[in-house]
Amino acid sequence: MLNIIIFGPPGAGKGTQSEKLIAKYSLQHISTGDLLRAERNAGTPLGNTANEYISKGELVPDDVVIGMVRNFMAAHPDATGFIFDGFPRTTPQAEALDNMLLEFNTSISTVLGLEVEEDELVKRLVLRGQTSGRVDDQDEDTIRNRFREYQNKTLPLQSFYQQQAKYQSVKGIGEIDEIFASLCSCIDGLKHG
Ligand code: AMP
Repeated sequence: MLNIIIFGPPGAGKGTQSEKLIAKYSLQHISTGDLLRAERNAGTPLGNTANEYISKGELVPDDVVIGMVRNFMAAHPDATGFIFDGFPRTTPQAEALDNMLLEFNTSISTVLGLEVEEDELVKRLVLRGQTSGRVDDQDEDTIRNRFREYQNKTLPLQSFYQQQAKYQSVKGIGEIDEIFASLCSCIDGLKHG
């Protein structure tokens, strides 16, 4: 199996690049942000709870997102690979993911980290806020809070995966297709077992 984590701060282009990667490598896309927004739009109790965190730019509790990912993986037993987009975002989530993959007799193949400076990220998020309808892209305090959460809780995962020799960093600025080509060469350079 090819299991990829697409990693990076809010606005780095994880969703955009995931769409292209799933098409090329036939992967199942797990975006916890998309799953949470779908729950919220359906008005489920999980969605309502999650919305309290999302609207403030805070991370949703670990057990909620881990449960969602577990359900998604269980619902796709024939998948030939997954791309994890916006997950894991904390060390307990990363540890839970390693364990879940172990149950599938597999593991993370690589972690692709999109590197983009903060000024560019803010610009992209503000722009996205004008078109995406995402409430958490429209308020500056919320955007700032999401960066803070990223710095404090998510960035430590970089060393978590560096210790496993799985982290590859990719420049996330430039043409979408150029960034995509860099991601593909990271993947194509892997030796699949
Ligand atoms: P995203 O679409 O990935 O930017 O996620 C939007 C929001 O959903 C985040 O700001 C969090 O509030 C929540 N969220 C998404 N994924 C996770 C996760 N893995 N852990 C905790 N909260 C998450």
